[in-house]
Amino acid sequence: MQISANKVVSIDYTLTNDQGDVIDTSNGRGPLAYLQGYGNIIPGLETALEGKSAGEAVQVTVAPAEGYGERDDALTQAVPRQMFENADEVQIGMQFQTMTEQGPHVVTVVNVDDENVTVDANHPLAGQTLNFDVSIIEVRDASEEELEHGHVHGPEGEDH
Ligand code: ZN
Repeated sequence: MQISANKVVSIDYTLTNDQGDVIDTSNGRGPLAYLQGYGNIIPGLETALEGKSAGEAVQVTVAPAEGYGERDDALTQAVPRQMFENADEVQIGMQFQTMTEQGPHVVTVVNVDDENVTVDANHPLAGQTLNFDVSIIEVRDASEEELEHGHVHGPEGEDH
């Protein structure tokens, strides 16, 4: 069965940046299951997997525009320290979840001084070229419920 819209696809993958550092991997966690055609994964990877079958290996380099987007410096913002409950413990590199009109969003602390904490709302992988090494484990038809929800159910997927 080939990968096309409305198929549930299970993949093993390793993601590295251009320096060869492993950013993410399914190794030790088991395959990732996603629903093709629903934006569950980044566009560049979804496009590269279209038409492929179980048992195939795919290597793809995804530019930022097809990945997590370009970095936008306007998404960096200084927030008064007193906005943080444990202001003394806030350190560069910490991540916080904030609520926005678009839903939950993760921001990363990029600077701390006496008055302000500067947070960056760019996705941590924004602006990065992503190298995926993928093995396609399984391709199956999605259930009607999965299509309605727009994501995978079952042992490897979301469970509701
Ligand atoms: Zn669901």
